[in-house]
Amino acid sequence: MARTKIVATIGPSSNNPETIRRMLAAGMTVARVNFSHGDHESHKATINMLREVAQSEGKVLAILGDLQGPKIRLGHVKTGGIQLQLGEEIVLTPHRGQPAMIHLPHPDLIEAIQPGARLVIGDGEVEFTVAEKKGDTLRCITTVAGLLESRKGVNAPGTDLRVSSMTDKDREDFELICQLDLDYVALSFVRTAEDIHELRRLMSDKGLQIPIIAKIEKSEAIKCLLEIRDVADGMMVARGDLGIEVHPQEVPLLQKRIIRACNDVGKPVITATQMLQSMVEHPRPTRAEASDVANAILDGSDAIMLSNETASGRFPVEAVLMMKQISEITETAFPYDEWRNRRQAALPHATSVTEAISAASCAVAEHVQARAIVSSTMSGYTARQIARHRPPTAVMAVSPLASTQRRLALVWGVDCVLVPDFTDTDEVLAQTAAAMRKFGLKEGDRLVITAGVPFGQTGQTNLIQVHEIVYE
Ligand code: PEP
Repeated sequence: MARTKIVATIGPSSNNPETIRRMLAAGMTVARVNFSHGDHESHKATINMLREVAQSEGKVLAILGDLQGPKIRLGHVKTGGIQLQLGEEIVLTPHRGQPAMIHLPHPDLIEAIQPGARLVIGDGEVEFTVAEKKGDTLRCITTVAGLLESRKGVNAPGTDLRVSSMTDKDREDFELICQLDLDYVALSFVRTAEDIHELRRLMSDKGLQIPIIAKIEKSEAIKCLLEIRDVADGMMVARGDLGIEVHPQEVPLLQKRIIRACNDVGKPVITATQMLQSMVEHPRPTRAEASDVANAILDGSDAIMLSNETASGRFPVEAVLMMKQISEITETAFPYDEWRNRRQAALPHATSVTEAISAASCAVAEHVQARAIVSSTMSGYTARQIARHRPPTAVMAVSPLASTQRRLALVWGVDCVLVPDFTDTDEVLAQTAAAMRKFGLKEGDRLVITAGVPFGQTGQTNLIQVHEIVYE
């Protein structure tokens, strides 16, 4: 069984019960609903369908709502686009209907940008350097020649755009995410920790606590990565926009930095975009893509993500299956020793009892050759802290909360079993042992169990016990 989790984006290719059923069987653990496309009615229908299929298949599926954020796009460009040559001049204007100019309906960007700045269009198909700012227009020189088309994304690397990372559309979409009680919300184009606070404030006004995944795709975010990490609940290496904002050759090391930042504190991290891109059209990935997935796993990703492959590709089920198979093979060479060393180095600096117990439970499990480390958890925090150390021993969680069970579907290596509410230690042990039976644990197998006493409160794991299974 793969320990790395798989996030699959839902779109026209996968938005039907039969494909979802097959994607769940292939290994999808988190479904990503991308609010950049579709309307509220279609999102509601998708989310209801996802829940119904997961329930009927007896699978745990988390749903991640991904907010579009302030994506900047060109306005309308003449049908068929404009083929630009190297060195060719164009003028960008915020005003519609200027035949000699290109419409860029973002006066805030035009105001912020300075001569000498780069503008990257789409995935880098076209690039401009701003030569001159004249009133509210920009005279630009084409530095990468190509076809300029309507509604293409526009990135201005290095330009500090002081806008909120939540647009009015995001606020409306976030209302729906709250109404439908999704398991995670992803915030796009995060620049600073304040962007996360802003979303958190909107949530607390509603009395909700949906974990926030900060999508790291702006160079400003890289500058204050640890501040963002500290206030978010997880991060996504959003390599699509990140690779435009910085140069593509910088992405591999940034990926490692972002993953490491999350690993260090036990927050889930997703590596995303173009992982198996060629499977949009083909039933098999390129060798380079297979290696990219494997390396993201070895880097320490909790989850790896499919975008177009499952949203609009021809082989959504095959793409999920391929990711699972790459994970299973790669994990046989997972550097557990290196993680053990990291854990040993981190243990003296554990700042809470939960952290100390989580690290200790990994060590004890190896010493007593336990079959699993099991944390009884309300919020999932202890399970995440255990998974943070990437122990070779299986990591399980038992929780009375279905929301915790679903949220752990994003966390490396954790399988969570739903149990009735527990009120004392004997009950936890009995329920844990019973739940483990389902996973093939036998009489005499050892478990390392962690729990928090008194029960029912979060964030206070203070008990560790080695338990030998006895089935009556
Ligand atoms: C990305 O840019 O890599 C990403 C995941 O964001 P989106 O798919 O929303 O562009």
